[in-house]
Amino acid sequence: MKNLWENQTEEARKKIFSFCEDYKNFISENKTERECLAQSVKMAKEKGYVDLNELIVNKRTVKQGDKIFALNRGKMGVFIKIGKKSIEEGFNIIGAHVDSPRLDLKASPVYENSELALLDTHYYGGIKKYQWLANPLALHGVVCKKDGKIIKINIGEDQNDPVFTISDLLPHLSKDVKVDNINGEMLNVLVGGIPAKQEKNKFKHNVYDILKSMDILEQDLISAEIEVVPAGRARDLGLDRSMILGYGQDDRVCAYTSLKALLDDEEIPERTSVCLLVDKEEIGSYGATGMSSKFFENVLAEINFLLGNPEISLRRALSNSYMLSSDVTAGFDPNYPSPFNKDSEAYLAKGIAFNKYTGRGGKSGSNDANPEFIAKLRRLMDDANITYQFTEMGKVDAGGGGTIAYIMAKYGMDVIDAGVPLLNMHAPWEVSSKADVYEAYKAYKAFYKLK
Ligand code: MN
Ligand code: MN
Repeated sequence: MKNLWENQTEEARKKIFSFCEDYKNFISENKTERECLAQSVKMAKEKGYVDLNELIVNKRTVKQGDKIFALNRGKMGVFIKIGKKSIEEGFNIIGAHVDSPRLDLKASPVYENSELALLDTHYYGGIKKYQWLANPLALHGVVCKKDGKIIKINIGEDQNDPVFTISDLLPHLSKDVKVDNINGEMLNVLVGGIPAKQEKNKFKHNVYDILKSMDILEQDLISAEIEVVPAGRARDLGLDRSMILGYGQDDRVCAYTSLKALLDDEEIPERTSVCLLVDKEEIGSYGATGMSSKFFENVLAEINFLLGNPEISLRRALSNSYMLSSDVTAGFDPNYPSPFNKDSEAYLAKGIAFNKYTGRGGKSGSNDANPEFIAKLRRLMDDANITYQFTEMGKVDAGGGGTIAYIMAKYGMDVIDAGVPLLNMHAPWEVSSKADVYEAYKAYKAFYKLK
């Protein structure tokens, strides 16, 4: 397998580094599903994409070359470019998720203990709890008031903002408190230390007073969605700046590159191109904004109707579709070789990683892609001069995971996982290679041309 940095031209390297500057900005400025989708819609509109709802309301018809987006509750998005062929021949779909592991505030989060104010959290997705201690944290989200007003929260990113943290115990007294003892109820965020004038619960009340100055009442936190995430921007990693250290690269690295691949394509594709950005992947893809919801199918039904096609056209389109489930995979970690199989792992800087199957144990829960489809992709990637690796995630019985691939496979379409390998996956700060980020973008661009 070729290392992308080897024998690379100066020009190729420049392209990678410049692409990754924009990528770093995207993940630094968008740390929630809502923020990612708002920015994605902005980028799409700049390229001429139109809201599906406008087309429906104005009873517009749809034709080849049309660029459309649909947004579900601000947390899931479908971006479509109508191709030259009838949609019955199938879509080329790339789907990524924009939710990442984090801590969510509970509905009544503020409490006080020993003259300190804290926020109670419930973690979201698979985390190693100890990694969230003693780090600068930021609060991102929305507070929805009874009168319909929505207050956006973003505290901890600006240099002048305060940050938050979850305290860890000093090593001197940690004989009986080990990493494995850190449980979900211990992830309490330090939020204040000045008392209000009240008789009782003055430390908690001081937090409420500050919230009140932001037009947020205690009860309003019941209808809020506030996410605790690592504070600070993504950074270049290494003396050679070959890597990126950033929060939420699972799976915003694939979300950003997939969307960019669609938006940067200036031509009308043969087959209709679709980019899917979904929520809730990290908790099983359930919920109205997750891949299991019917939103995606409903959007395509609307478009099929606006194209003037009978309903059966959509069924045919779905089963004739190709899909890349663009999600990250584990990169081989020289610090922890034991759960990996050296010969079948993804390596950093060796290109986009395809996983025929994910799942655990005997491939349980995976879609296990068809070899006919894989052969087609090999030819496509070779013809487009893309560097890629076919990999597995760890030793057979070492553990496992899943993506949205199996949900899309339910339509009878061909699906395979293809994404960027990471180190530190699901940690507050994850590592990617810039070469892989750019190679994924190139691979997704090529995929939209698959006939
Ligand atoms: Mn993922
Ligand atoms: Mn994940």
